[in-house]
Amino acid sequence: VAVGREEIGQRSETVRRANLSAIVRELHARGPQTRSALVNRTGLTRSAIRGLIGELAAAGLVSEASPQRLGTPGRPSPLVSLDPDSASVLAIEISVDSLAVAIVGLGGVVIELTRVDRPRGDASVNEVVGVVAKLTRDARSRRRSSRRLIGVGAAIVGVVRRTDGMVSIAPNLGWRNVPLGARLSDALGLSLPVSIANDADLGALAEHRRGAAVGVDDLVFISGEVGVGGGLLVDGKPLDGIAGYAGELGHMSINPNGAECRCGSVGCWETEIGEDVLLRLAGHPDDLGLRGVDEVLRAASENDPVALAAIDHVGHWLGLGIASLINLLNPRLVVLGGRFARLHPYVGPVVEAELDRRALAAPRDLVRVVPSTLGVDAPLLGAAELAFEPLLADPALWLGRRDLMERASA
Ligand SMILES: [Zn+2]
Repeated sequence: VAVGREEIGQRSETVRRANLSAIVRELHARGPQTRSALVNRTGLTRSAIRGLIGELAAAGLVSEASPQRLGTPGRPSPLVSLDPDSASVLAIEISVDSLAVAIVGLGGVVIELTRVDRPRGDASVNEVVGVVAKLTRDARSRRRSSRRLIGVGAAIVGVVRRTDGMVSIAPNLGWRNVPLGARLSDALGLSLPVSIANDADLGALAEHRRGAAVGVDDLVFISGEVGVGGGLLVDGKPLDGIAGYAGELGHMSINPNGAECRCGSVGCWETEIGEDVLLRLAGHPDDLGLRGVDEVLRAASENDPVALAAIDHVGHWLGLGIASLINLLNPRLVVLGGRFARLHPYVGPVVEAELDRRALAAPRDLVRVVPSTLGVDAPLLGAAELAFEPLLADPALWLGRRDLMERASA
C-alpha cells in the first residue's frame, strides 16, 4: 500500500506530539534531568531531544541550566527543568472534616495550600462551594505569579461520574446527585476545565506518582476517615469501571451480621473499620475526629487495654478485607492512607497475621502493606495531577498558548 506524503506528515506530527508528552511527563514526575538522562529515559535520539526541548523552551515551559558534568564520560549535558510558574493548576479537596485548596505548579510544586476545618455531618452544597471559591480567591490574590492556571481538579469523598463531575452519592456529606462540576465552575468563575474524581482514586494517583508507590504499577490504596474509600491501579492504569464508580472498597459487603451503613446497606467494610467505629470502641464520642484518633493512639502507647482492643478490632477487619483484595487483585503494594497511615504502627502486626491466615500464599508472599507517605494531602495532590493530565497528555496543544492560559485565568 502506497503511503501518501500527507499521511506521512500526519504520522510524524502524531509522533512529535507523543514525544513532547513523554518528555514533559518525565520532567513532571521525576524533576529536573540532564538532556542525556532524557535520552536514556525516553529512548529518543539526542537530536530529537534537542529539537523538542527547544520547542518547550520557546513556549516557556522548560528552561535549561548550564551543562552539568556528572562524572560520566563525554560532553557535559544541560540540565532541563520545568518552570512551575509556566502552568499551574487549582486543586480542591472536599472531605468530611476539612476543605482544602492548593495551587500546584508544573512538576508538582505546591505553590500555595490552605486547609480549613469544617463541622462534620451534612453539608450544604452552596456553603461548601462558597468556601472553596473564597479560599481560591484568597490563594490567587496571595500568588500573583500563579496566574497561568490551566485547569481545576477536585477530590471528593463520594461516588463521582468522571465525565461531568456529577456526585451521585457522598454519604458522609449527605449529598445525592449533586452536579458538582457545574456548581464549582459557576462559583469559581474561571473559564477552565473542572475535573472531579473520588478522593481515594486521587490518593492512589498521588502515591503512585510522588509517594509510597512510585514505580509500583499494581496497587491498592485504602483511604479512611469516617468513610473508607479505595483507589486501585492495575498494570499502571486506574481501575475505574465503566463510569468511574469502581474502588468503593468501604462498601464491600463484609459482615452479614454487621451494622447499618450510611450507604443504605448492612455490614459494609467501613462499618467495621471506619474512624467512628474505632472511637466508639475506645470509649470516645464517635464524632471526635482526628483529635479522637490522637487520643486513642496515645492511650495505646500506654498499653491502655480498651484502646488496644479497639485498634485490634479495626486491625482484624482491615486484614480480613485486605486478604480478599489480595486474592482478587494480586497487587504488589497495599498503601494505607488517611487515618490508617497513622494507625499502621499499631494495626500492622494484626493485619499481617490476618493476611497469613486468610490470603492465598502465592499472592500474599508478593505483597507488602505500607503506610502512605503523602499523608492527608494525598487526595489534594492527586487532584492537581488530574488537572495536569490534559497538558501532560498533549503538551503540543499548549505551546504558544501562554496568552490563552493567562486570559482564561485573568
Ligand atoms: Zn455501605
